[in-house]
Amino acid sequence: MTARVEERLERAFDKRTATALGKLGLRTVGDLLGHYPRRYADPGALEDIAALQVGEHVTILAKVEQATVRPMRNRNGALMEVVVTDGTSRLSLTFFGKHRGSLYSHEKRLVPGAKGLFTGTVGLYRGTRQLTHPDFTLMGEESDLDSDEALLEHATKPIPIYPAAAGIPSWKIQGALRVVLDTLTDADVPDPVPDEVRERHGLPGRAAALRSLHRPATMEEAYRARHRMRFEEAFVLQAALAQRRARTAAEDATARPPLPAGTPGLLADFDASLPFTLTDGQRSVGQEIAAELADPRPMHRLLQGEVGSGKTVVALRAMLQVVDAGGQAALLAPTEVLAAQHARTLRTLLGPLAEGGTLFGAERTGASTRVALLTGSLGAKARKEALLQAASGEAGIVVGTHALLSEHVQFADLGLVVVDEQHRFGVEQRDALRAKGRVSPHLLVMTATPIPRTVAMTVFGDLETSSLTEVPAGRAGITTVAVPARNVRWTDRTWARVREEVDAGRRAYVVCARIHPDEDQAGAAGVSGRAAAKDFDDVPEFLDPADPGTDGAADRPPLRAVLEVVEELRSRPELAGVEIGVLHGQMPPDQKDAAMAAFASGEAPVLVSTTVVEVGVDVPEATAMVIFDADRFGISQLHQLRGRVGRGTDPGLCLLVSDAELGTPAFARLEAMTQTTDGFKLANLDLELRSEGDVLGAAQSGRASSLRLLRVVKDAGLIEEARTAATDVVRASPDLTEFPELAAAIRAQLDEDQEEFLERT
Ligand code: ADP
Ligand code: MG
Repeated sequence: MTARVEERLERAFDKRTATALGKLGLRTVGDLLGHYPRRYADPGALEDIAALQVGEHVTILAKVEQATVRPMRNRNGALMEVVVTDGTSRLSLTFFGKHRGSLYSHEKRLVPGAKGLFTGTVGLYRGTRQLTHPDFTLMGEESDLDSDEALLEHATKPIPIYPAAAGIPSWKIQGALRVVLDTLTDADVPDPVPDEVRERHGLPGRAAALRSLHRPATMEEAYRARHRMRFEEAFVLQAALAQRRARTAAEDATARPPLPAGTPGLLADFDASLPFTLTDGQRSVGQEIAAELADPRPMHRLLQGEVGSGKTVVALRAMLQVVDAGGQAALLAPTEVLAAQHARTLRTLLGPLAEGGTLFGAERTGASTRVALLTGSLGAKARKEALLQAASGEAGIVVGTHALLSEHVQFADLGLVVVDEQHRFGVEQRDALRAKGRVSPHLLVMTATPIPRTVAMTVFGDLETSSLTEVPAGRAGITTVAVPARNVRWTDRTWARVREEVDAGRRAYVVCARIHPDEDQAGAAGVSGRAAAKDFDDVPEFLDPADPGTDGAADRPPLRAVLEVVEELRSRPELAGVEIGVLHGQMPPDQKDAAMAAFASGEAPVLVSTTVVEVGVDVPEATAMVIFDADRFGISQLHQLRGRVGRGTDPGLCLLVSDAELGTPAFARLEAMTQTTDGFKLANLDLELRSEGDVLGAAQSGRASSLRLLRVVKDAGLIEEARTAATDVVRASPDLTEFPELAAAIRAQLDEDQEEFLERT
């Protein structure tokens, strides 16, 4: 049985229409039905022309105010200029013709008073916004809508406005859908939401909902339909996650119980040598993890913790428990800098405990192991040695970047995978690492970016969550100040302050948004930068360029660059005699290590760097941070960056250098930063200021692709309901044999995710 939704568009339509729809990525009738209206126009009202952005592809409902045709001045041909209005603002439309006659039909139709939809890309000509050769359709004259009923429909019902493209305007999509919907039956569209769930939640069937979504009689009807489709998205996703949880719960893992109290071991020795006492949070989360590791079912836990709350120690203790029990642990970090730092920290924290011989000797002495470091740019010899230590089991702990995911990496007995600063790893990467154990290893995922509950449920719905909310006592706190970039007095004062910190034996970071002064700014901020950056080292999480606070307005000075700022600082009188280091992702790994080491030791107490220091870098003596072009960064990234200072007992100072103007979102972000250091508060604020896509994007979801209407933040209630319903359904029929439509929808979604994942890597 092939459902109607699988029918190719070439079969359902003429070739031209099918090709045009293909430009929107639509291949099947199902794709077309899933091409939802972006919004609905109210036929009784005109739309706000003033809000249109240059460069945007738009479809607007407007009225013709005047139309003139004149011969072109410098060459043959005629020019028709039409001015349309929303009652307040105007937009001009221009049409060119070989001669006046070729514009005749436009001239007849586009008469003052005519109302219709106009579509095209907004351009700018001599300071005026205009559409050149827009496609249009006028109300009351559709030739393909000749029945009275159709005319009436068009005059009173909400007009769906579709994401369109050149050559396939919104109303052509609407027309194509009309053809499909006219003959659509319930049997044509399998419904993944089982009847009993629909009935319990008062939701319309899928076919009815699609009809209402594409051809609503009223806005209420459209909203009801949208709600139903949102529920479906949440339900299918939650069912997939429920299955995943169920499968995990049924998997075997090796139990790695802690050694009995009083038995000497790495963990006991480590605890005894800790220079501080654990916070209550570290202790209770530690117990939770210890108990789960002792279970023969794989642990799947997300540890959320405020910046500086001490997650590393929690992870290390879990790793040591596993090593004590005879297994190995892998620690996966998002950048080389962070991986190297973790290896260094672990070796330092472990001291003599990390200088061990073999782990699997016949008579294991217990109390020693090794920490191996494996990153992508390791030299051949070092790489071979690390691989060998991992494969033989000699290294109880293997730290690395994405390189750990490579097929060549083998473990003797991988018992625990820890993923640090998770927001840059997707589900698939976690799976790749877990697959390296003989049986499923336990999994601990750590993130410092607080995640709202429903986002966690959506993106990490297969993980249990623990939180560390307190920061160890005795931290002196951080003061954050916004510094106007163009004010010389402030600039002088900034470097004088940095000098004071250095003279007191402390360190300062100076963060820039890009490396080279002549680097293409768009490139620095663009998606291509993300794809190209090795290990995500230098990836500023820039905001939407359409954001007025961050736009590249012509008068905006160029972004400050690491290589330029370092020169400038070396010649500043305030910093005379101070060694200034450089760090960015394009440096070879040994130079990166050397730069971090010189900074940590105080040899070069000022470090000019990219956002490579953003996640996890831990130098307790660092007290000051200057962030250039701070308005270009998102709140969570600023919070992460700022978390690099004030980690010791000396107070931290964070200077946000920017020229953001009062009243812009950029200014609001900086102001929020100066007012609180509470990550959870900032995360909520961030959500208010950001769009949905950013939220999911920041979480590096491999699942965002399937969410078209669902809003993970605003639809919290709906997601909870869908989760409960989905969990019940999966419990009733674990392999979903009783719900074949749901099973098929999950399969289709997994394929889509897979594709998206492959495209991203
Ligand atoms: P994050 O949670 O941001 O990853 P880290 O694990 O890097 O934080 O810890 C931040 C700093 O706090 C480190 O220098 C660490 O040694 C220190 N630290 C961790 N736990 C404690 C504690 N209980 N008391 C004092 N300092 C601690
Ligand atoms: Mg950390």
